[in-house]
Amino acid sequence: MLEIKHTLCPSCSVGCGINVVLYDGEIVGTFLYKRHPVNAGKNCLNGRNSIDCYLNKFENVDVEALIGDVKKELQSADASNVTVICSGNNTIEEIEAIKNFADY
Ligand code: SF4
Repeated sequence: MLEIKHTLCPSCSVGCGINVVLYDGEIVGTFLYKRHPVNAGKNCLNGRNSIDCYLNKFENVDVEALIGDVKKELQSADASNVTVICSGNNTIEEIEAIKNFADY
């Protein structure tokens, strides 16, 4: 069965909408999300190629434990030697993780 799920483009933190197309529960492509308020169906080249992000084989990790480990590392560091850099090219998930890391 063909399904279309409205979601956010995973390629950066701008927050453009995109539709993910599934066939029998498997992701088979992406499609413009024309009614999304941020980008009205206009995705940049990274967004149009974001199918690659969805098709990557991600390992299941305990994100909370991972964030806790990084926080411990940061807490043991001299704060004057720590710099946090992020950009518009970070994904929403990366920005959220950076916020968690920086909030120690
Ligand atoms: S990668 Fe492009 S389409 Fe995707 S959120 Fe960023 S600007 Fe929008």
